[in-house]
Amino acid sequence: MSHSSFSSDFRSLTKSISGGLTCAFYFLLKYEKADTRMVGQSQWFLKWLLPTIASALVGGLLLGTLYWAAARADQVAAARQKDLVTLIVSKMQSSVAHDQESATVWDDAVIKSKAGDLDWLGTNLGQWMNTYFGHDAAVVLSAEGQVIYQFIAASENAPSAEDLRESYLPLARRLRERLTAGDEEGVSDTVLSIGQSDLTYIGKRPAIVSVKPITSDTGEIEQQAGEENLHVAVRFLDSDFLTDIANEYQFAEMQFTVHEPHDKSHSQIPLKSASGRPIGFFNWHPFEPGSSVLYATLPVIGLSVLSIFGAASLAGRAIWRRSVRLASSRRELQHLALHDSLTGLANRAYFERELSSRLESALPQAKHGVLFVDLDRFKAVNDTYGHPTGDKLISLVALRLADLLPNALIARIGGDEFTVLLEGFEIQDAGVLADSIVKRLREPFEIDGAHVVVGASVGAALSTGRLDAMELTRRADIALYHAKAAGRNTYAIFGEHMDDLLRKRRRLEHDLRAALDAGTQFEVFYQPVYPANSDLPCSLEALSRWRHPELGLIPPDVFIPIAEEIGVIHEIGALVLEDACSLLAELPSTDIAVNASAVELGSPGYPLRVLSILAKWGVAPNRLEVEITESLAVSGEEQTTRNVAMLRAAGVRLAIDDFGTGHSSFSRIQNMIVDRIKIDKSFIQEIDQRRSRAVVEAIITMARAQGLDTTAEGVETNDQRETLILLGCDHVQGFLLSRPVSRGQVTALCSASPSTVQNQQWETA
Ligand code: C2E
Ligand code: CA
Ligand code: CA
Repeated sequence: MSHSSFSSDFRSLTKSISGGLTCAFYFLLKYEKADTRMVGQSQWFLKWLLPTIASALVGGLLLGTLYWAAARADQVAAARQKDLVTLIVSKMQSSVAHDQESATVWDDAVIKSKAGDLDWLGTNLGQWMNTYFGHDAAVVLSAEGQVIYQFIAASENAPSAEDLRESYLPLARRLRERLTAGDEEGVSDTVLSIGQSDLTYIGKRPAIVSVKPITSDTGEIEQQAGEENLHVAVRFLDSDFLTDIANEYQFAEMQFTVHEPHDKSHSQIPLKSASGRPIGFFNWHPFEPGSSVLYATLPVIGLSVLSIFGAASLAGRAIWRRSVRLASSRRELQHLALHDSLTGLANRAYFERELSSRLESALPQAKHGVLFVDLDRFKAVNDTYGHPTGDKLISLVALRLADLLPNALIARIGGDEFTVLLEGFEIQDAGVLADSIVKRLREPFEIDGAHVVVGASVGAALSTGRLDAMELTRRADIALYHAKAAGRNTYAIFGEHMDDLLRKRRRLEHDLRAALDAGTQFEVFYQPVYPANSDLPCSLEALSRWRHPELGLIPPDVFIPIAEEIGVIHEIGALVLEDACSLLAELPSTDIAVNASAVELGSPGYPLRVLSILAKWGVAPNRLEVEITESLAVSGEEQTTRNVAMLRAAGVRLAIDDFGTGHSSFSRIQNMIVDRIKIDKSFIQEIDQRRSRAVVEAIITMARAQGLDTTAEGVETNDQRETLILLGCDHVQGFLLSRPVSRGQVTALCSASPSTVQNQQWETA
């Protein structure tokens, strides 16, 4: 393999390796492009590109070093071969002269050449030297320069006598001069006579031509200096010579060319005569040890480099992909942390953060609005239809909100509470939006075949860039509170007056605690319950009253929700129970009902509290009835169910209060273990209307079928009472018969005769 073909092969190999690397690199680059955008460019560069480039560089460096070492080894080898060829030629030159001496420094040769004995000369100075030393031609010249004897070895390109003569004449002339002058330069122990030799052309062939004098070896034959016969020896440097040295020294493709060869893969040395005349060039294919080693090892090294590159690239890619995955799972986590999993809306944290940052970065005149949306009857739906339906309802509500407000930030901040952030709108738009939300959420939802109706209250607060997020949220919350207080299913926009109401509520909260501490401001009133067609009360319902020292009588509708919220409802419940039980002890022929709030009934200590108060007053548990709301009765909440079961097991009776407002299906009510159903006063007040009458009738029929008592609440007119008697209602309760009255009056009432009852004037509340 030639030097230049090695380097071009090597170049194409390194090219294809680097091409392969580039290709693989671009493929991976393209493949990962999508992910790249997600993680920062620098991350991608550091984690994947860098190791890949580094390994490619190391691989390239390794290959480069190997190539350099191989080329260097080849250079050294080539230089040595050139030296060797030069040495061989110069040795050949001296060996031709040396060979000549074996026959020219000889007495016989002097005698025979002077005598012109051609036979002798042919045998000893021509033929013999050709056979023995490989000389290609020999000539014996007389002192006058005449050719005495001439021998030219027979061959295809044997030189002509004329060419031969031309080649040796200058040398012979020079030698003759030196002999005449007695120049002995160069004569030594090994060189016996002076001589002239040169590299030259004979015809078109390079040759060594050497001329020596024929002299005595013993010194017995005297010759005058310059009168010696001369002997010419010729050795061609092409053909045989080339084959000989190629074989002897292992040169490949050794050849002689007159002109400088163009094949750069060949080593060459120029051949010059002593006078500097160019003769031609020896050239051959050099021995290249470095390349041989490199070629033997290159596949293995190349593969190793490729595998290192591949491994580094894959490892880098794996690391990078992992960091991409980590980043994306971090993003997922962030999303989860900031969004509601059920609806996909923003959660409270995200909403608050976003509200703050948008308000902070807003221009002073920018307008913002916060809407608080609260579903009105979500708890009842959840209790009635179960949580899966409740969840679906929430999702549908979220969809309706998103549909109504496609550009606003909407968040779910609680079970059935949503907030909306509005930007860049006019104040009157907020009212329109809030109103459309209320209307849209009042439309029925179809869930799993059921027709679910909820409603929403909306509170809105608006800012013109001066308010901070907390204040804006607080105002929306207050507005919502007002919307609810205004009877729900409506909206309210915050106004300064609402702050007054809030202050009043805070005051009530404070005063309620103080009142419970004082223990004197609470009173229990009792409203009698009558058999439908009798004027003689058969039982009482205990209703609590708060006599505020400054504000006067505060109705339970106002303070019970506050008491529930601030956690003092248990104390109020206990107060009522205590009073009711003491009254039961006082009036042995009367039964009493007490109202239990959801908070009380859901607390673990409730049944024990009831039973211990009953026991304290020595009252039979079956004389006490506990009124619970419809949604509470069907909630299925574990603690509530357990408490109801415990109370009933002890003999306490249970009634469902405000029946008909909880939207329970009849089938669910069949499963409730209660003793009485109290039909809500809203139906009684509209009993003259066909629809309400039908509802009341259905309730009574169903209750009868279940063996339950019925009580109609809020009976205010005789017509209502007549209708209820007609429909078969068991008991009635209402202003028509008696308002809730104080304890003192109850005692009088229960011991009075039926005729006096009607005409009595009670202190009512
Ligand atoms: P409720 O249990 O439905 O009690 C009946 C309410 O209807 C009473 O209002 C009563 O005054 C009123 N009422 C009675 N007859 C008529 C009528 O003919 N027409 C009209 N329009 N109203 C009538 P009150 O006493 O203001 O109590 C309101 C609610 O507060 C009660 O509704 C009950 O849910 C709750 N409550 C009262 N006392 C307590 C208590 O000690 N504990 C608990 N947890 N809740 C109580
Ligand atoms: Ca009640
Ligand atoms: Ca009621």
